[in-house]
Amino acid sequence: MADLLVVGSVALDSVTTPFGQATEVLGGSATYFSYAASFFTNVHLVAVVGEDFPKAHLAALRDRGVDLSGLRVARGQTFRWVGEYGFDLNEAKTVDTRLNVFADFQPSLSSAHRKVPFLFLANIDPELQLEVLRQAERPQLVALDTMNFWIEGKRNALLEVLAEVDVLLVNDAEARQLARQPNLIKAARAILGLGPRTVVVKRGEYGALMVSDGSFFFVPAYPMESVLDPTGAGDAFAGGFMGSLAQREKTDPASVRRAIVFGSVMASFTVEDFSLTRLDSLRSDEIERRYSSFQDLVRFEI
Ligand code: AMP
Repeated sequence: MADLLVVGSVALDSVTTPFGQATEVLGGSATYFSYAASFFTNVHLVAVVGEDFPKAHLAALRDRGVDLSGLRVARGQTFRWVGEYGFDLNEAKTVDTRLNVFADFQPSLSSAHRKVPFLFLANIDPELQLEVLRQAERPQLVALDTMNFWIEGKRNALLEVLAEVDVLLVNDAEARQLARQPNLIKAARAILGLGPRTVVVKRGEYGALMVSDGSFFFVPAYPMESVLDPTGAGDAFAGGFMGSLAQREKTDPASVRRAIVFGSVMASFTVEDFSLTRLDSLRSDEIERRYSSFQDLVRFEI
């Protein structure tokens, strides 16, 4: 089992969906990622929070076994994100983004953290992603996530970091926006030309598509009757994906396919409730059971 390091946001989110509302709850790309990945391997979290960050949230992350030695508490306010969703839960509308302590954050990896073999650059300022990547010592696998906020605002830094990663995980709108290409397959191919050897396009309730050097792979989303809050689905997907690869220390095509299914499994649990509520009560046997349901879901020769 190999260790996994993530840099990304740890946030207080305020979210409105057609099914309810949550104010200043635990969120952030690195938080969802760490929770999901912690079911598979040892996770080390690199991020910053403000002095206002509730101690109970730190305890919750520690309870999941997440190493918080790389989480700095800085003077100022924690990163905040305010978002809302209409009945089309695939599309988040950002109402407000307050970088707060992230505006001055300079990540500095400990010597142990520099050697962690699996690295995930979760959604955060691409300049910070680059900073972490520069400090890492030849990781076995580097994956990256981003969003429209950075594709629009920090395109050059994003292209720079993208040139050095193995896997890009984005949603379909982000893939189109990044490649400036409306056709998703062409967009994914264009992204392969920017550096990564694998692109995983997350398509919300329509599943996930992987495009790699000569191969395609597709997994549907788990058919859910009740989705309360889609926030964090993408990050939990990435956590299941990277966690599964790190657990087996393998990155061959078969392992990548399995990892995409584990990503889909973790995303499906996350959306069942607001914030990290569902992942807090999740058990490993439930993950295994849903993985088996996925095998039944896509088997077409009985
Ligand atoms: P997801 O729904 O998986 O795409 O990610 C949602 C999470 O991303 C939320 O918990 C937010 O706190 C976090 N987030 C939103 N905008 C940003 C941003 N610009 N940079 C970093 N994290 C963000």
